[in-house]
Amino acid sequence: MTTASTLDGLRAELTARMDQMRETGVYKPERTMASPQGTHVVDEAGRDVLVLCANNYLGLADDSRVLAAAQAALTEWGYGMASVRFICGTQTIHRTLEHRLAEFLGTEDAVLFGSCFDANGGVFEALLDERDAVISDALNHASIIDGVRLCKARRLRYANRDMAELEARLVEAKDARYRLIVTDGVFSMDGYLSPLDEICALADKHDALVMVDDSHAVGFVGPTGRGTPELFGLSDRVDIVSGTLGKALGGASGGYIAARREVVELLKQRARPYLFSNSVAPPIVAASITVLEILETSADLRERVHAAAARFRAGMTVAGFDLLPGSHPIVPVMFGDAIVAGRVAEELFARGVYAVAFSFPVVPQGQARIRVQLSAAHTDEDVDRAVAAFIEARAAAST
Ligand SMILES: *Cc1c(COP(=O)(O)O)cnc(C)c1O
Repeated sequence: MTTASTLDGLRAELTARMDQMRETGVYKPERTMASPQGTHVVDEAGRDVLVLCANNYLGLADDSRVLAAAQAALTEWGYGMASVRFICGTQTIHRTLEHRLAEFLGTEDAVLFGSCFDANGGVFEALLDERDAVISDALNHASIIDGVRLCKARRLRYANRDMAELEARLVEAKDARYRLIVTDGVFSMDGYLSPLDEICALADKHDALVMVDDSHAVGFVGPTGRGTPELFGLSDRVDIVSGTLGKALGGASGGYIAARREVVELLKQRARPYLFSNSVAPPIVAASITVLEILETSADLRERVHAAAARFRAGMTVAGFDLLPGSHPIVPVMFGDAIVAGRVAEELFARGVYAVAFSFPVVPQGQARIRVQLSAAHTDEDVDRAVAAFIEARAAAST
């Protein structure tokens, strides 16, 4: 039996660690909302709050067509599968969604996971072993970092979007059986795109495979929303795409890998999060099929999210804010100082505008920012209100 003194010691130690997090400003308090997710939510105090920090790029989290598809599926296909896919957790809609995702992304096949975190957690270990090398951008998502750690391949890292370093790593790994370059399609703290054209050129030169995690792009980046490979005209060159259903594609949960037929087939045999974690719930699967249909038949939401981002960037620039350049709906508003960024975010919230400040260690020291994320569901009035609130909050925070 664990002794009382061990348990007391554990509690004291955890409390001390969390106190330290509060002191250094890295403790993350959690706000609760009293309504569904959307561009406007109700906060705990019952106030209307404008949301500028959801990954709800296409506004589909509360779209009536998506809700109707999920509700119909609840009746037709049930609530949950109570099984992993390979035992008794595969319905026809699961295969339909996989085929539709592959078609949408221009790959031969696709496989669903419980999340993109799981997809990235399973893909490397299943495909690669000690004869191989993974070359990863330093700012890749935590799930890629963890997934790479779980596999036995040699691990090499290059500074964010630094193509000279990438090439040096490719040369270092020249004796590996396979070299796999892996990158986020869009880096979420900056809204910067990965230079896929240059990455693929280096991959060609050094005979490497390319994997892109396009979680912050699929649905709205590229001429028809197929993501960063489409934007760069490289859909045929990228070997593996991972992504999430939890952002632009409806915002519920679920992830996928899209790739060549044999890659997908092997993942279904070997990827541990696929084999040992529950099947994606039927209402989410059916609603995701509807989401793809919406995106295939209309450019409307895509155009709206980009228009909202452009309007916000223009308004903030006129107001003298320092934005990171770009056109992605992730718009980092730079403050530099962590205390200032935090104070502005507080003042924004007091004015009914919800955006989050990020500081070290999430972003580099001295580059504290408020990250704004626009949505197709933001109206011009929402965007203008956001800009006005930033101007007021900046003034209030400096007094
Ligand atoms: C959000 C995100 C994930 C995780 O997706 P989930 O489906 O929520 O697990 C993975 N990779 C990137 C780049 C992301 O932005």
